[in-house]
Amino acid sequence: MPSYKIKTFGCQMNHSDSERVESVLQQCGFSPCENSEPDLYVVNTCSVRQRSEDKAYGFIVQQKRDFPNALVAVTGCMVRQTGDKSNSSDGLLKYDPIDMVFRIEDTARLPKLLESHFRDYDFSDFIEGFGAGSLENYFAINPRVQNRAQVYVPIMQGCDKFCTYCIVPYTRGRELSRPMADILKECETHVEHGAKEITLLGQNVNSYTDGGGSGKPKCFAELLRKIDTLHNKGLSRLRFTSAHPQDFTDDVIEALAEMKTSCPYVHLPVQHGSDRVLRAMNRNYTVAKYEDIIARIRKRIPSVTIATDIIVGFPGETEKDFQELCDFARRMKFDFSYTAIFSPRKNTPASRMEKEFIPDEEKRRRFHAFDEIIKHTSWENRERAVGQTLQVLVEKCEPRPDKLYQNSGRSREFFEVYFPAGRNLYGKEVEVEVVSRDGYVLYGEMKNYE
Ligand code: SF4
Repeated sequence: MPSYKIKTFGCQMNHSDSERVESVLQQCGFSPCENSEPDLYVVNTCSVRQRSEDKAYGFIVQQKRDFPNALVAVTGCMVRQTGDKSNSSDGLLKYDPIDMVFRIEDTARLPKLLESHFRDYDFSDFIEGFGAGSLENYFAINPRVQNRAQVYVPIMQGCDKFCTYCIVPYTRGRELSRPMADILKECETHVEHGAKEITLLGQNVNSYTDGGGSGKPKCFAELLRKIDTLHNKGLSRLRFTSAHPQDFTDDVIEALAEMKTSCPYVHLPVQHGSDRVLRAMNRNYTVAKYEDIIARIRKRIPSVTIATDIIVGFPGETEKDFQELCDFARRMKFDFSYTAIFSPRKNTPASRMEKEFIPDEEKRRRFHAFDEIIKHTSWENRERAVGQTLQVLVEKCEPRPDKLYQNSGRSREFFEVYFPAGRNLYGKEVEVEVVSRDGYVLYGEMKNYE
């Protein structure tokens, strides 16, 4: 049977999507290819910034040069239509190295799409088995997970918020949630196979509705509490990403405070610290509202760590706006900030604000100044973890010259922790006493592991 390689760019959502693509390929009989030319090369793309797209193009050109006979199929956020050079007008197909494109929600159609390119193989059983291209059929695919201890479960796709800088509503379409029963079944199966940590994925997880669009009643807290019951079967940690402040309601905070599997870590993107810029971004909340949500979270979960996303240099951002952002970050004392310099995405409202674009050099200056503030508060927060015992789920392990193993993973607070041990503890959750900090990383010693 033919072989495949898959390369994934971008966020956890894309990595989770690739697990479903791999599952379909393997069920069709394709085998993973390590060191030789594959018959099929799938590239799962990200378009959050122009640089992400440029990286994907560069990668595709290089692969086609190295593997001229491989069929190159592109999916992910850069793809608008499904098909190949014979039947689709997707803009990507005008590039020579790209042979085929498919929207991620059309993953179930892959056997049908591959049929005409691999004529020596019979795909008929799989074409019927996976069904037509639809989000429902995409969700129904059993993913081929990379790490059994930590799994990602998509609960919704798309977004209805239309932030003016963001391309997601145009690439992933409108919000559609998965039925709760299907999500619970998938989570239960993962836990039966050894999952200790589940991360729920969606562009806007807390506007989750049970199997519908954003117009239906929201029930994210109910979903969290139902998954939490899997604690009895071995689930230790439940995380989610991304959330939106507009829908971060008290029932979600209560659930997080009461659940056995919730982690004291909340990632709540704010994007800016100036109301004027938030309005221009169409974020639909104020700085005061965001601060109030965080205050309520911190009151109910005193040990919580807070992560956020920030865009520096949005069109029209004045020095005063930027200083408001800096003051806001100092007040909030974030533990993590995923900070990006504004980059215009084609066809978004912000890309048409050219007259207000901030010069690149000034954007970089603001980015570095803001980064210093984040470094200061987040390093200070990590310093407080020194001397504490944290539970670490081991994600990586490398042998050291002294015959020990360097294990590393995330604590429940999402801190990155390294510690030596006499063996590879990949996939195990262990107690580690933190003894030092270097930058964002904590170092520790393991306690009581048999
Ligand atoms: S809520 Fe997030 S995914 Fe939706 S438009 Fe805004 S930034 Fe994009």
